[in-house]
Amino acid sequence: MIVDVHTHAMRYPEHLSDAFVREADRARGYPVDLTVEFEDYLRAMEPVERCILFGMKARHTGFYVPNDWIAAFAARAPEKIIPFLSLDPTEPDFLDDFERSRTDLNLRGVKLAPMYANFDPTDPALDELYGRAARHGLPVLFHTGTTFCQFAPLRYTRPALWDDVAIRHPDLVMVLAHLGHPFENEALVTARKHPNVFLDLSALYYRPWQLYNSLVLAQEYHVTGKILFGSDYPFTTPGDSIAGLRALNRMVEGTNLPRVADATLDEILHRPSLRLLGLE
Ligand SMILES: [Zn+2]
Repeated sequence: MIVDVHTHAMRYPEHLSDAFVREADRARGYPVDLTVEFEDYLRAMEPVERCILFGMKARHTGFYVPNDWIAAFAARAPEKIIPFLSLDPTEPDFLDDFERSRTDLNLRGVKLAPMYANFDPTDPALDELYGRAARHGLPVLFHTGTTFCQFAPLRYTRPALWDDVAIRHPDLVMVLAHLGHPFENEALVTARKHPNVFLDLSALYYRPWQLYNSLVLAQEYHVTGKILFGSDYPFTTPGDSIAGLRALNRMVEGTNLPRVADATLDEILHRPSLRLLGLE
């Protein structure tokens, strides 16, 4: 079974500001339509059996998807989609949002995006949230790594910050998204230390040299078991991500450079991610 642990849904202009979309277009070099239609989403998810879906809440960068909307979207394919809530901890009522989304909407995990929402993930003001998430068995997936957004601070996204969070909350199950790209080495050593810290490799196959090096390093640290498959749909698709992962070693064909073992790639693709995240 392949699980995609990292997919988004949202609509423009309801959930995205013009400024955010302009920056996304600039980063790509061409206009991107970020509105996710349900039928397109399901078609894109055909290569995977289950998918974790979230919006994002980050007023600072003009990205705000209500949890009710995500719950309604996911309810159209409950056998396939596992919906997460998202929070913007700069909002005074974020803990109420957490409780209502967890209980009334039955959302199963949490998505946080510190750099986009402009907060420090190690801020003690978040300890209550982390404690409740751990107590109720909700994994927390964090955006880590870079972005195209000009005003999203890089200092809130270095994966080593999560060492502090994991030391304070060893029972909290966390996923550091995008292997903390391009700070993958920090993400790998953080996951290596902490049994409940996982990584996803979403949106990385199109930077193949960096991903190849990261997976070789992960093999050397014996930490590939912490890496989960994800796509970052609609920014990429599971189909392209799987193909890109399978093609990684082609770059080093005809050389004596190390390979990412086929077994490693298979294990990442077929990782029992839902069980590891306590979602089964
Ligand atoms: Zn994402």
